[in-house]
Amino acid sequence: MDLQASPQWVDQLATLSGHRDRDLLDVSLASALRDLLRPQSVAVLRCVGGSGDERWRLSARLGLNDAAAASDGLGLALADLPLLHSHPARLQCLQQRLVVQASDGIGGGCCMHFPLASDRQVVGVLEVQTAQALGPAEQRLVSSVLRLYGNVLGLLDYSERDTLTGLLNRKTFDESFMRLSGSLTQPPEVPSPQSLAELDATTPPGSRRGRQGMSAWLGVIDIDHFKRVNDEHGHLIGDEVLLLVARLMRNSFRFDDQLYRFGGEEFVVLMRCVSPSDAAVAFERLRTQVQGFNFPRAGRITVSAGFTQVRVSDTPSAAFERADQAVYVAKQQGRNQVHEHAALVAAGLLREDVRDSDVELF
Ligand code: GH3
Ligand code: MG
Ligand code: MG
Repeated sequence: MDLQASPQWVDQLATLSGHRDRDLLDVSLASALRDLLRPQSVAVLRCVGGSGDERWRLSARLGLNDAAAASDGLGLALADLPLLHSHPARLQCLQQRLVVQASDGIGGGCCMHFPLASDRQVVGVLEVQTAQALGPAEQRLVSSVLRLYGNVLGLLDYSERDTLTGLLNRKTFDESFMRLSGSLTQPPEVPSPQSLAELDATTPPGSRRGRQGMSAWLGVIDIDHFKRVNDEHGHLIGDEVLLLVARLMRNSFRFDDQLYRFGGEEFVVLMRCVSPSDAAVAFERLRTQVQGFNFPRAGRITVSAGFTQVRVSDTPSAAFERADQAVYVAKQQGRNQVHEHAALVAAGLLREDVRDSDVELF
């Protein structure tokens, strides 16, 4: 054993296992394996998107001499990312949970794919590009590091995710909210029609939208008459409905929107988009999908939603409260509808106290 190399290597593993942020964890994994194997490049690819439209998102790539990792930035539309089947070797590795070796097609190099998995699920693929195939000892080493990585992912999921639905739990909400609102520059509350037109003119439909003009939004979604589901069909069927609503949410919102189960039958979404109408479209899409879905044992279910723009120097509870007030109006007006807080204030259905952001209901 090379004791000279060990301390640095153990440090790398300690850094890897100390991360609480998945993106940093992926950079740390790429960095540790790059320093250990000295390959041409090492890349971490995550599988993102809903069932039927899953794609590859580059989480971290490091070339031999790169100072910083490359990645697919935030704000990319799912449609901009490559489909899973566009990389057959990666896909085989992901689906069969096997190490898959492929020629890189350039100068006889080799590209080895290793599955990335926590104890619950396969989340992506590690790609190691080398001049010559990795030997059995090197492959074993990579697999051991990936087991450590998988354990860290499993612990993160355990502490941050709701066990029933797999959505994020409330614990990480405040931190994510503060990060999102802290990243806001002072935007116009609503972009002017002219700036929206400019953005649309330079942006192909369904593809990447400019980051300028993006604002942050918080939505609250509450299942209508959920108590009845429990009363009529029992708690287990109620739980199944929660699980299926969470799945509809995953398929309905963008892959990088943050989806939370806040407890009970209440869900929260943190998202970035350009205008209130974009946010409304996203929540309406979910509302109609839930309305049209045939829940196997509970039949038809509906949801009510309220949303609000996140303001510079907003607090998580103030923004949540505004969205929740909009849900309250949706419930009062008959349920199965979506409302924006600011629109309700403008219509005189809610009153906002400008001094402390408290809202009064008329
Ligand atoms: P509304 O349309 O006004 O939202 O009515 P609701 O019945 O959905 O709302 P209410 O707040 O009266 O009831 C929520 C119910 O959700 C009550 C509780 O038994 C149920 N519930 C909360 N957590 C869980 C859970 O984890 N599983 C199941 N099955 N039910 C839950
Ligand atoms: Mg409810
Ligand atoms: Mg509720």
